[in-house]
Amino acid sequence: MEKTDILIIGAGVIGLAVAAELSHKFKHCSIILMERYGKYGREISSRNSEVIHAGIYYPAESMKARLCVEGKNLLYDFCRRWNVPFKRCGKLIIAQNVDDIPSLEKLFSQAENNGVQDLEFLDAGQVAQLEPNVQARAALLSPSTGIIDSHQLMARLEWLARQNGVFPAYCHHVTDVKQTNNGFLVHYLNPDKTSDLIECSRLINCAGLEAGTIASLAGIDVIKAGFKIHLCKGEYFSISHQKSKLISRLVYPPPLEDLKGLGIHITKTLDGRIRLGPNAFYIEEIDYQVNPAHRMDFYHAVKSFLPFLEPSDLAPEMAGIRPKLSGPGEPFRDFVIKHEADRNLQGLINLLGIESPGLTCCLSIARTVTALIR
Ligand SMILES: Cc1cc2nc3c(=O)[nH]c(=O)nc-3n(C[C@H](O)[C@H](O)[C@H](O)COP(=O)(O)OP(=O)(O)OC[C@H]3O[C@@H](n4cnc5c(N)ncnc54)[C@H](O)[C@@H]3O)c2cc1C
Repeated sequence: MEKTDILIIGAGVIGLAVAAELSHKFKHCSIILMERYGKYGREISSRNSEVIHAGIYYPAESMKARLCVEGKNLLYDFCRRWNVPFKRCGKLIIAQNVDDIPSLEKLFSQAENNGVQDLEFLDAGQVAQLEPNVQARAALLSPSTGIIDSHQLMARLEWLARQNGVFPAYCHHVTDVKQTNNGFLVHYLNPDKTSDLIECSRLINCAGLEAGTIASLAGIDVIKAGFKIHLCKGEYFSISHQKSKLISRLVYPPPLEDLKGLGIHITKTLDGRIRLGPNAFYIEEIDYQVNPAHRMDFYHAVKSFLPFLEPSDLAPEMAGIRPKLSGPGEPFRDFVIKHEADRNLQGLINLLGIESPGLTCCLSIARTVTALIR
């Protein structure tokens, strides 16, 4: 039977970052990164807004806040060092009328508590100077928000992990996990669908939408533990190329209650296109179709601050799915990044609910996992 010191399940941006960091820090360890698809980044990590978040929204002391602020800086440094395309384009969170201004003030002090010290309050005239085609009564400018090429980021992380000796096992689907005296016995399907076993002393669950399933296979009662993953879909619509030129920054409304989402907003891609989205609604089954009937909802959500838009400018683009720990109507939940020693599962590290700002936090999450392993 095969053996490895560390087995990481899931080659999304989180599993890749963890693999790169652990292989750098623990050079003597053998590490396998097991992924059910033929390549990295086939699920959440390739279906998101690609925004490097500043760390504004999340409750002070939460992991999301701390890891976002730390992760943003690590990520900008990483991009510069390894030539990953990014743009620190900045973002406006706008108030469309006076009633929205208190929520901007609340966000301003929330951001300060989280260590985001660079926000600026702008009046309508200042907003018009920066973004003449956006209609707003006031706005918060976040200069440290940016966008990143998430595919190039994952390619670089995978390359670094390989350089450090990590073996990526693609087309390997984990089907069961059993605890042994020395760690865990992981059952998996090979690319030809035959089944096999591997033993590891450390098992790191970075399975994204399936992280709850893996925790359950390892013997955790996910309902009792609060580890059930709720699927929350987010669709995007793209805007015609001509009109994309009318905006140069990211533009967001104030966030939704309980941070279910950040409200339908405008993000820019590195090639200059603008996208609207994502919306947020819970689903039972994974399904990446964009419902064209949602076009008018998107249009109505933004038309008051983007008056130049016509419904015909919007085309369905793509959808992503958030792995939320909070179900419909439930309050904010933080990331879970946890060594399960207290459940007598010594050596199992679970990462659950790694929704936004998980991309921004990938490097700080990898450091957190390294500290847990130490
Ligand atoms: C709509 C949307 C917008 C977002 N926008 C942003 C943003 O702008 N900025 C930001 O910072 N964050 C954003 N995020 C969050 C970010 O995308 C995620 O936090 C991050 O991509 C999660 O990565 P992951 O590696 O945990 O998951 P994934 O990328 O899904 O990787 C998990 C991997 O595990 C594999 N796997 C699962 N089960 C098994 C198994 N049994 N055997 C083997 N392999 C398995 C899967 O195939 C998958 O490849 C957004 C998320 C969504 C959904």
